Amino acid sequence: MSDLSADAAAPEHPGTAPSGGNPAAPGGGRTVSSAVPPSLVARLAAGITATGDPDLVETVAPLTGERLAGLPQSSTADVEVAYELARRAQPGWAALPVRRRAAVLLRFHDLLLKRQDEVLDLVQAETGKARLHAFEEVLAVAMAARHYGRAAHGYLRDKRRGGALPVLTHAVEARRPKGVIGHISPWNYPLELSVGDALPAFVAGNAVVNKPDTQTALTALWARELLIEAGLPADLWQIVIGDGPVVGPAVVEHADYVSFTGSTRTGRDVAQRAAARLVGASLELGGKNAMLVLSDADLDAAAAGAVRACFSSAGQLCISIERLLVHRSVADDFLERFAARTRALRLGGGLAYGADMGSLVSVRQLDTTTRHVEEAVKAGATVLAGGRARPDLGPYFFEPTILDGVTPEMAVCSEETFGPVVSVYRFDTEDEAVAAANSTPYGLNSSVWTRDHRRGRAVAARLRTGTVNVNEAYAATYGSVAAPMGGMGDSGLGRRHGAEGILRFTEAQTIATQRMMPIAPSFGLDDERFAAVMTSGLRALKALRFK
Ligand code: NAD
Repeated sequence: MSDLSADAAAPEHPGTAPSGGNPAAPGGGRTVSSAVPPSLVARLAAGITATGDPDLVETVAPLTGERLAGLPQSSTADVEVAYELARRAQPGWAALPVRRRAAVLLRFHDLLLKRQDEVLDLVQAETGKARLHAFEEVLAVAMAARHYGRAAHGYLRDKRRGGALPVLTHAVEARRPKGVIGHISPWNYPLELSVGDALPAFVAGNAVVNKPDTQTALTALWARELLIEAGLPADLWQIVIGDGPVVGPAVVEHADYVSFTGSTRTGRDVAQRAAARLVGASLELGGKNAMLVLSDADLDAAAAGAVRACFSSAGQLCISIERLLVHRSVADDFLERFAARTRALRLGGGLAYGADMGSLVSVRQLDTTTRHVEEAVKAGATVLAGGRARPDLGPYFFEPTILDGVTPEMAVCSEETFGPVVSVYRFDTEDEAVAAANSTPYGLNSSVWTRDHRRGRAVAARLRTGTVNVNEAYAATYGSVAAPMGGMGDSGLGRRHGAEGILRFTEAQTIATQRMMPIAPSFGLDDERFAAVMTSGLRALKALRFK
């Protein structure tokens, strides 16, 4: 393994340590227990629809391993109650003009920006990520709130469509809310994937029954409080928590539509349950995303981009890069720069800006990461940076790690690690790089680096992923909230953001009003004459280029 301490820079901020440096005390003197006191936990937990023991399960702060919160668990009967309350609240909300509903999102945007420090503490306390990466969630949610707050009316308004018979048929396409959305979200982006994905559902006139991961329930509950403060009727957003395989299926069981984000394995189960009930589902699932560094890339920019791509939220980001494909002619030069930047990253557990990377969320993520790295090294892979757990910094810290010489039989080659680990592969031709990038069943995100933007877009068009970032890691596409984001293949079904991200929460309804004459033999025409008139009519319409 490489000696990380050789390149270690002195920490500039309290609470951080270079990935090869020494542990330091949490930043700013603020601790998880002072930032998330029991009174805050009790206030937020009151928002959970659950009737049992209020202190049934304990969550742990990943940064330190200390107890974070005691929370109740919803039973399947509680889930039914949540749906009843949501169903009762939904029609009144749907009856409001879209602009009234959109105004709630716009107020929420302003409140979120103003009160961001509260939720940054919560996200850090629940996930262990660095504050900068927690802020990315604030950014993403604010952008979605503003976009749907301003654009919802356009997406949802009735649209005139060409009728069956010009002039005689007046056709309108309308959008109706689905009703109550079952919304299941994971722990890795607890603000964005709870409220960010729920905002378009609300503005489209739906209620939501949300099951966040228990580990990150406080963040979702905080967002619910803020949205209520912005004007959302309280019963419209129900939050249930509990064991995924028990409470998750109960949420799917009563939903009019399911919005799921999580692993591909769970996504398949959710899809089958939704299909059996003939309700739609959007599924945002896993990935094994590739970054392509072409021969003409700006190598410094690409190295800095690779750090963001691979190590944001300690790699626990569905769109993060786990496969780095580099043109052979620039590989050595690029890797030197990338490895140096990686070794200089400051790992830290403070509730303040300054750390470049935080902790993994749980022992499960630490175990998978450790297993992938150790197995690969044992089978002959080389560690270019990182490679070790860092219990000296906190129970689940793992160094940002670059592996070279990874071969197909190693799990890290094709399985999603969901940790701060990237494997490097070299290519000689663009065709080879595209084929390698497309060689997994997943198809979520990719990143292409080249000085030639047109070339970058041409390569992008050949990649089978729902988003492709040219000269950026992931934020360019994710932040373009007017355009859809989601996965191909095993990475999912449906899209968040843009028109698809809101229309999925609606049913299309066509209302056509027929005037003056029916679309049937009439005015004394027999069937044969009617057919002849219609045939001539279609020919005339074609000649006039009407239809
Ligand atoms: P997970 O599938 O284990 O859990 C996700 C959610 O589903 C949790 O709330 C969980 O409690 C619940 N759940 C578990 N079993 C269930 C069941 N049988 N029925 C219904 N719900 C059930 O995933 P995770 O480990 O929490 O999250 C990490 C995964 O999520 C990674 O694979 C990551 O790539 C993926 N992810 C995808 C996106 C995206 O936008 N594509 C975003 C974030 C995370």
